[in-house]
Amino acid sequence: MDQSDLQAPTWQLSERARKLTSSAIREILKVTERPEVISFAGGLPSPATFPAEEMREASDRILRDSPAAALQYSATEGYMPLREWIAARYSNNSAVNGVQIRPSQVLITTGSQQALDLLGKVLVCPDSPVLVETPTYLGALQSFSMYEPRYVQVATDDNGLIPEALTPELTAGARLLYAQPNFQNPTGRRLPLERRRALAAMAQTAPFPIIEDDPYGALDYAGEPLPTMLSMAPNHIVHLGSFSKVLAPGLRIGYIIAPEELHFKLVQAKQATDLHTPSFTQRIVHEVIKDGFLDTHIPTIRALYRDQCAAMLSALERFMPQGVSWNRPEGGMFVWVTLPAHIDSMKLLEESVAQNVAFVPGGPFYANEPQHNTLRLSFVTVPPAKIDEGVARLAALIRARV
Ligand code: PMP
Repeated sequence: MDQSDLQAPTWQLSERARKLTSSAIREILKVTERPEVISFAGGLPSPATFPAEEMREASDRILRDSPAAALQYSATEGYMPLREWIAARYSNNSAVNGVQIRPSQVLITTGSQQALDLLGKVLVCPDSPVLVETPTYLGALQSFSMYEPRYVQVATDDNGLIPEALTPELTAGARLLYAQPNFQNPTGRRLPLERRRALAAMAQTAPFPIIEDDPYGALDYAGEPLPTMLSMAPNHIVHLGSFSKVLAPGLRIGYIIAPEELHFKLVQAKQATDLHTPSFTQRIVHEVIKDGFLDTHIPTIRALYRDQCAAMLSALERFMPQGVSWNRPEGGMFVWVTLPAHIDSMKLLEESVAQNVAFVPGGPFYANEPQHNTLRLSFVTVPPAKIDEGVARLAALIRARV
């Protein structure tokens, strides 16, 4: 190799690319891959729940019976039998939904993360207001930020987003409201029925869509889901779903349910992005779920996560000092912890990683004005004995600072 090959290129990057920053947390958390680290940091589902054998059998059948279609390019909108299954699931489940959803409203996406990107693409202009919860999903902020919005934080309390906070002054000019009613990432909060009704009513007259991102809805520990906002205002809510938390995230299968006018624009945007979500994995998902597999599989995930969550809550109660508070999630994968105001969880993370315990500091989940004394704990991938050990070590570090 001659010396000139070693020089850094001097290419001009886009304004947008220049504004991208890499996360300090990501650097610190790199060490969490070491086996001795007890990590409450990951947002990963438990691999113990992945139905590998069902997937293998489904793949074999697909490659035997329809190899050409499974390995060929396919429609941008997605595999029709999967879109029909999703529409029927929302239309038939009267406890949660019970509205008529048409397959033509369903767009299969490459994970719901892609859904967030596509919504940013078709709805957000530079400096246009985007309403988000306080705090909100970091990955949504990353997606929308590519389109350079002006974030407006909406106030929340222990029950999630406060509908009364959405005053005309706050929402003026907004392009979308991004909300997670079920077991929110990062706080694990669930929005009560009355608030869902209030938001759905507001959606019917608001000049912007409410995005209902719902990857965790099926994971309520009691098996008593609350109705989606989609079921209350099917023509005004844009609903995002995902198979990542109920099957496996590596499949990258999610979906958007949207009114047809927006659906059409999203399809155009998706075509430019990746033509379509992989034909093969869409068929695998459909083949695995089409005869009711999820109805027996989801309760096993719920039971596992309920026990893991109980282990985490019990450890927090036994080890955390006075002045530290947390919520008691009714589902999902996360607990949100608030430390005494003077403790910065980013600094705590550095010390904690040195003691082989990891978590995600809360600051990056805020679009504006981060609250630095917060942190997110994920409990689903750590065995209960290790949860105890990890929480005890973390609590000792906090005790030394209170
Ligand atoms: N939305 C939320 C709230 C999430 O927590 C996640 C995953 N962590 C996603 C969307 C993206 O999930 P996926 O792309 O795997 O469907």
